[in-house]
Amino acid sequence: MFGMMMNQPLSIIEILRYASDAHPGAGLVSVRTEGDLHRETYAEAYARAAQLAHGLRKLGIGPGDRVATLAWNGYRHFEIYYGVSGMGAVCHTINPRLSAEQMLYIIGHAEDRLLCVDLTFVPLIEALADSLPEGLKLAVLTDRAHMPDSPLDLLCYEELLDGEPTTFDWPILDEQSAAALCYTSGTTGNPKGALYSHRSTVLHALSVAVTISKSLYEGARILPVVPLFHVNAWGLPYAAPITGASLIMPGPKLDGASLFDLMEAEGVTSAWGVPTVWMGLRSEIDARGRNPSGFEQVVVGGSAAPRSMIEGFEKSGVDVCHAWGMTEMSPVGTHGQLSAPMKELPWDEQMRLKSLQGRRLFGVEMKIVDEQGQNLPHDGTAVGELFVRGNTVVSGYFNNSEATANALDSEGWFGTGDVATISANGFLSIQDRSKDLIKSGGEWISSIDLENIVMSCPKVASCAVIAVAHPKWDERPLLVVVPKGEDRPTLEELHELLLHSVAKWQLPDAMEFVEELPLTATGKVSKLRLRQRFEGYRMPDAG
Ligand code: AMP
Repeated sequence: MFGMMMNQPLSIIEILRYASDAHPGAGLVSVRTEGDLHRETYAEAYARAAQLAHGLRKLGIGPGDRVATLAWNGYRHFEIYYGVSGMGAVCHTINPRLSAEQMLYIIGHAEDRLLCVDLTFVPLIEALADSLPEGLKLAVLTDRAHMPDSPLDLLCYEELLDGEPTTFDWPILDEQSAAALCYTSGTTGNPKGALYSHRSTVLHALSVAVTISKSLYEGARILPVVPLFHVNAWGLPYAAPITGASLIMPGPKLDGASLFDLMEAEGVTSAWGVPTVWMGLRSEIDARGRNPSGFEQVVVGGSAAPRSMIEGFEKSGVDVCHAWGMTEMSPVGTHGQLSAPMKELPWDEQMRLKSLQGRRLFGVEMKIVDEQGQNLPHDGTAVGELFVRGNTVVSGYFNNSEATANALDSEGWFGTGDVATISANGFLSIQDRSKDLIKSGGEWISSIDLENIVMSCPKVASCAVIAVAHPKWDERPLLVVVPKGEDRPTLEELHELLLHSVAKWQLPDAMEFVEELPLTATGKVSKLRLRQRFEGYRMPDAG
């Protein structure tokens, strides 16, 4: 027997329509590439998304066509998210930090029809011009007055919208229709496309909104440092309008001082981004001796948040929510908000829980398995590969039958490539990417655990632990450190620190200093490049 309820397909444009009705005062504040600050309500964004849809239709863009972006966090990027998906086309965000080859590969692979770029990226496109696919149209996200002189045939975004009607007859789409496309960073092999649907995107936004509710509420002012050009800025462009939170878009300036000033001026209540960004903000907070006024919560994810960073924020009264996820999961999979009883635990225990990767979002199931694919217990000790399942997880990769064939296990779970434990109270603890784990004498060593502890040494600015080949033990950990000042830490003092929490055989055998750690296109430490840099490294006892 079926229920007797209406069945409205879930649709992305409905989010903005709802926000323009229900939260008319909320909206976007954007630092523009033109240099000034821009304000727009969700109602205005909804009207401009309609104008954009008309403009795109005149360019011949139709349902299913891919419209790519190469842009910072700003209101025009947000309008593209809605106008493009709303008309039934697919918003393909491109990460400008990818290599030129990777960018060209994904533009070609996605068969983009139009590429919308911020002013900052016009030189990049000019440099790639000879290799861009024939017929790809280019638009610059600015007005006529700021259009650059360029040998390329460039459309002007504001002219696409000018004079167009502010309403659009948005088509009723199948909720399974493709809405957005984002490629994985592809450290090995070509990037792979995660193709989100209207349904998955709306469900993900609802889950994020109800779970990370300390950030997402009517009147909140959220700073997404996490980029719209990768993993949908963790769903914020969709979750914020639902709840009536405004988005403070930082544009290209992401250093600690610029973020602090913007947060202070705009009364930002929560800020979302990867740990590397928060290191910059933390130094700024330390230098000024205070938080930006009204700052309540920082949401951190994308790579493991070091406990020292979590404690730094918490001590100054800023709540930390440590989240985990991946491109293939829309992307948020877990969140680190503590339940009411957990908030009664001793401070140390609360900090321990917050440095784990948190509990699953509604709609995401998790399992860990051993090398034979057998389920392992959720006891906080058994370490296995993490698999996930749910309405916000990919079922395969866009136009890539080989990767799709290998994406799921025989029961339809997606293999994350992360190695983890899950505790009885549901907390996920990521030990490593499976390829970054260090296998020493048949036992695993978690690089994340070691890094986390070393980061608490005040003489360390950042660090990474990688595996180095060893004749006796197969692999041993090498610690690579960026020192904070002149007074460099010794390996012995770091060993002493580590021995409070790890076994002696897990201690790094050697330490090397570097000026900076190589980062991936998504701001994570590139272990691949570090391993390449230290290829052939010999440990002191390796003979
Ligand atoms: P991406 O698809 O670029 O978002 O990368 C996803 C990967 O980033 C995950 O599979 C994890 O390896 C890593 N990651 C994301 N969040 C965290 C976190 N909070 N702690 C540790 N690793 C993380």
